[in-house]
Amino acid sequence: MSLYVQKFGGTSLATAERIHRAARRAIRTKLEGHRVVLVVSAMGHTTNDLIELARATCSHPPKRELDMLLTTGEQVSIALAAMAIHAAGHEAISLTAAQLGLVTDSAHTRARIQRISRDRIDRELAADKIVIVAGFQGIDVGGEITTLGRGASDTTATALAAVLAAEVCEVYTDVDGVYTADPWIVPQARKIDRISYDVMMEMAAVGATVMHSRAIEFGKKFNVPIHVRNSLTDAKGTMIMAEEPGMEQISVEGVTLKEDLATISLNAVPNTPGIAGRIFAEVARNHVLVDDIVQNVYDGGKYANLGFSTNAGDVLEARAVCERIAADLGIGSVEIDEGVAKVSVIGLGMRTHAGIASTMFDALARAQINIENISTSEIVISCIVRQEDAPRALRFVHDAFELDKTDGADNIQACAPKEGSEASPTPS
Ligand code: ASP
Ligand code: MG
Repeated sequence: MSLYVQKFGGTSLATAERIHRAARRAIRTKLEGHRVVLVVSAMGHTTNDLIELARATCSHPPKRELDMLLTTGEQVSIALAAMAIHAAGHEAISLTAAQLGLVTDSAHTRARIQRISRDRIDRELAADKIVIVAGFQGIDVGGEITTLGRGASDTTATALAAVLAAEVCEVYTDVDGVYTADPWIVPQARKIDRISYDVMMEMAAVGATVMHSRAIEFGKKFNVPIHVRNSLTDAKGTMIMAEEPGMEQISVEGVTLKEDLATISLNAVPNTPGIAGRIFAEVARNHVLVDDIVQNVYDGGKYANLGFSTNAGDVLEARAVCERIAADLGIGSVEIDEGVAKVSVIGLGMRTHAGIASTMFDALARAQINIENISTSEIVISCIVRQEDAPRALRFVHDAFELDKTDGADNIQACAPKEGSEASPTPS
């Protein structure tokens, strides 16, 4: 018998009525002959509300206690979802991470899953029940309650799907699937039918919030297809799956925006071997997230300016750490800029099609938007721009790659072929 993991996000559980709807979906799947494991997030804005409450109570809440508080949100959801299934005349059981044996490391608020025990879930499924699991939470070997990071109910779901060898992991949300850009900012954005794990992982890493990026790693590693779809309709959503022939034809598949960023510059860093290593070892030791790093050398190689971007939420910690390092290593000054955002384009076809970067820069130029920094990887090009320019930047770039067109293959023509390929006759 095949197994379905179905994950419901906060908005899809925001009211009792919506919880009933999720319950009906699970029951229907079970009546179609599948075993069902439901993974749920906290209802509506519960997690944000709890964080606010914590901050109102204590300016720097201990992370252990934050985890203790935040995991209550998911515990409310599992109980209510089980009740809704019972109310409809079917059997279900709710389980916390501790009850099922989802073990993580001890890094409170950003724990990583180490192992998941199947025993309890298998026993409950064998008793013909729908099993309802609290997303986002774990337990460490000492029995402490942990959380996996914001948005990580997705990760609970795909990790369970992997361990249980599920046929599919369905992620129910309040939009129809994964879009070529955030439809709230780019109204012409188009729903994508199929996307590879790699592209989705990159899109999530550079700003797409529809799925948690670590969740996709599990899908990829264990080859579990992830179906992102709307909880209010029966429409097909987006399949996140292994790369297929043809997928790499599309040069750019999506554009994203990351607004919650800050850049940190260390100016007049003595340019001697080992300095960058010492700086970033210290930054990492303090768990400050490092996004892109840039370094320029000046004054005949005597000094360097070294900068990196980080989450806006980490900026206080980052500043403190960097000022300490600056004092220790004789670095000139530390500068923080909280007014930046990152616009990225992502696509497998970038591996083989050149001209993507120039199309992107050209679009930003036409929008009269200054690029403060550029970084590239195999399938991503990112530009740092001012935050106030960012939504317009996203719309111009989306438009330049014609991502609103139904056939993504079209946007190849928007870009020049790679140098040396047969169709590149124009020497510059
Ligand atoms: N409730 C958690 C959060 O808001 C986990 C999740 O929704 O995925 O971050
Ligand atoms: Mg989410």
